[in-house]
Amino acid sequence: MTSNSPIYLDNNATTPLDPKVLEAMLPFYKEKFGNAASFHHGYGHEAKQAVEHARKVIAQELNAKIREIVFTSGATEAINLAIKGVCAKAPPGKNHIITQVTEHPAVLDTCAALKKKGWDVSILQVDSSGFVDLNDIKKEMKEETALVAVMHANNEIGVIQDIAEIGKICKENKVHFLVDAAQSFGKLSIDVVEMNIDLLAASAHKIYGPKGVGCLYVNQKMPKVQLEAQLHGGGHERGFRSGTLPVPLIVGFGKAVEISSIVRNEENERLYQMRDKIINEITSVHTKVILNGSKENRMPNNVNLCFPGIDAETLIMKMKGIACSTGSACSSANLVPSHVIKALGYGNELAHSAVRFSLGRFNSIAEIEAAIKEINSTVTMLYKRSSSHLLVHL
Ligand SMILES: *Cc1c(COP(=O)(O)O)cnc(C)c1O
Repeated sequence: MTSNSPIYLDNNATTPLDPKVLEAMLPFYKEKFGNAASFHHGYGHEAKQAVEHARKVIAQELNAKIREIVFTSGATEAINLAIKGVCAKAPPGKNHIITQVTEHPAVLDTCAALKKKGWDVSILQVDSSGFVDLNDIKKEMKEETALVAVMHANNEIGVIQDIAEIGKICKENKVHFLVDAAQSFGKLSIDVVEMNIDLLAASAHKIYGPKGVGCLYVNQKMPKVQLEAQLHGGGHERGFRSGTLPVPLIVGFGKAVEISSIVRNEENERLYQMRDKIINEITSVHTKVILNGSKENRMPNNVNLCFPGIDAETLIMKMKGIACSTGSACSSANLVPSHVIKALGYGNELAHSAVRFSLGRFNSIAEIEAAIKEINSTVTMLYKRSSSHLLVHL
């Protein structure tokens, strides 16, 4: 983007590619073009080695075994494979899934598809801070439960669920546990063994990697997760996911994880400071503004605010210098208020006033200062306008 492009504050939707990631990918679009499944010659061998290096980096990041990582086209596909794959292999009598209301549509819509096929799906509510209640999970567990799906960090409000505690409950009940970690993988440290996670979905394009690649971690230690493939073909990825591997994308994914694991601590510290600066400097000027979701257990890059009395779409359109969004990229195509904001207990009107500002690696403090100025002045203008409307109506 050019120097007068809007300030990019939509990093929860997708992140720009890190130039170092692109650099690592380029040779695999040029001279290193081999098929990772063609092992009879150097071209294929080189590609295979690059894929296996990325797999090792990703496995290490999760404290998983190399053979437990299955490459997919992204987190959506990984989640579909996990839910449909586990349900297809579930023993007779197991026909119940537990999930929660603020999940990404990749989880909720896949569960809805299974419900149509006769599965029993429990969707737990969250409290006003966005947390699912551990006791609700315990209460909902039954003989028939095959799977629990709870996300790590929420994509709209950045709230971080207590995955380790939920993992314990699942283990005690011998139920598979799926975690959608699209917003946290690479950014927060995750240990699938310690946290008792059986299945975990991740995506490259949320951590400065390329779009079109992600992975599913599948626990292959005892007790192994039995998973039915959803794509059949050449038997790639140990039979879990057939299809020629997109070598350049996988190399980019590995590089993105490598960089994230190195810069994570410092980067999160910087993001926390910028995040809190935005929250503080907006809520101190506009005291009616509400921070959506817990402030304490929240991703360092996420700000989500309700501007009571203001329509979020109008506010976003007026702020020409800022690229941000209402809730998730997936639901902003329609004008239904966010299911996540509504789950916090807000009515439709308040939910329609929610705006997400999500920060990333390439945001500077100067950009954050400029953004705060523009947000505050635009909100002031809209409040003035609405109060003058009120006067006219009186
Ligand atoms: C982005 C996202 C997804 C979907 O990931 P893709 O790789 O784009 O398919 C799923 N869940 C969450 C929480 C996300 O943020």
